[in-house]
Amino acid sequence: MSAQLTFIPPRRPKPPRHLADLSMEERRTAVAELGEKPFRADQLSRHYFDRLTADPAEMSDLPAVTRDRLVTALLPDLLTRVRVISCDDDTTQKTLWRAFDGTLIESVLMRYPDRATMCVSSQAGCGMNCPFCATGQAGLTRNLTTAEIVAQVVGGARALARGDVPGGRGRVNNVVFMGMGEPLANYKAVIGAVRRLVDPSPQGLGISARGVTVSTVGLVPAIGKLAEEGIPVTLAVSLHAPDDELRDTLVPINTRWKVDEVLDAAWAYGAKTKRRVSIEYALIRDVNDQEWRADLLGRLLKGRLVHVNLIPLNPTPGSKWTASRPEDERAFVRRLEFHGVAVTVRDTRGREIDGACGQLAANPTGASEG
Ligand code: SAH
Repeated sequence: MSAQLTFIPPRRPKPPRHLADLSMEERRTAVAELGEKPFRADQLSRHYFDRLTADPAEMSDLPAVTRDRLVTALLPDLLTRVRVISCDDDTTQKTLWRAFDGTLIESVLMRYPDRATMCVSSQAGCGMNCPFCATGQAGLTRNLTTAEIVAQVVGGARALARGDVPGGRGRVNNVVFMGMGEPLANYKAVIGAVRRLVDPSPQGLGISARGVTVSTVGLVPAIGKLAEEGIPVTLAVSLHAPDDELRDTLVPINTRWKVDEVLDAAWAYGAKTKRRVSIEYALIRDVNDQEWRADLLGRLLKGRLVHVNLIPLNPTPGSKWTASRPEDERAFVRRLEFHGVAVTVRDTRGREIDGACGQLAANPTGASEG
């Protein structure tokens, strides 16, 4: 007799159910199934999205037994804070979170005089493999759920509301999907999270869609889909090179969707949503920072509703690349301006705590290698 070996893939445990994964209707149904009046779903939602609490002790409008039952069933702690590290006089805070299955992810809170921005992860790790990005080096661990993405923002909102961030009590004004992961490769969860962010209370957090930015390597079909959602979030395209030859190496998905296709999708997105598209361009010394490339980029973008964000490269462990020389950066800006393209150089907030663009790699010890 021959034994037949069948490969059974390990089944991933699913995160516990959370109300942020559910529409208002689904929350009411879930509450009813627990034997409670459907309006309790609204109360519970207000606690989470308005008062930013999941603590039964703070829910005095609910009978004690009800609170415990509802919180256990619908407001489980999805993310546990492992550590918080700060810089910029504590106005930049990077949080390392552990999910229910031990997965580690990071988010960054940046407080400015007039606003606060949360940079969130949409995946644990990333499968896009851009060679200059720390997250890309370890590959993709898994997609995050809608509620896990929202929980990062709620965590930041809670810290601001309680006055735990210097500058007095505040709220989250901006959310950027620029942490770990490729948001459009986790489309369903990300669009769910975007809805929870922009929906007014009690459905969601009530953040303005203008304050939300989805950043992508350029997954063309998903950009098209996003344009059809009717939520005018800002689209940021990580271009990093104006020519396919170089972009094929810096953003490997370019071998699938070329610069022209990505930009066409971006312009269509802009036309549909009336939003100015952001082009992200990490300036890498002697790699993509030549004046002729600035010129080429300027010609591609000129006359469009666009804004270029130049990001001085944050060197990541083991990488041979570094940021451009100041004079090359200035020349690059000047060339773009010559073509009438709006351009700014991104500040490097969070650099010392490996919390800047492309540095999020969920290193639990916080030590930088290399
Ligand atoms: N996957 C999404 C979100 C990634 S992070 C995307 O690619 O757009 C957000 C931005 O930081 C992207 O533009 C990304 O290319 C950039 N980035 C990644 N690593 C970087 C680094 N080491 N220095 C500067 N910017 C970096």
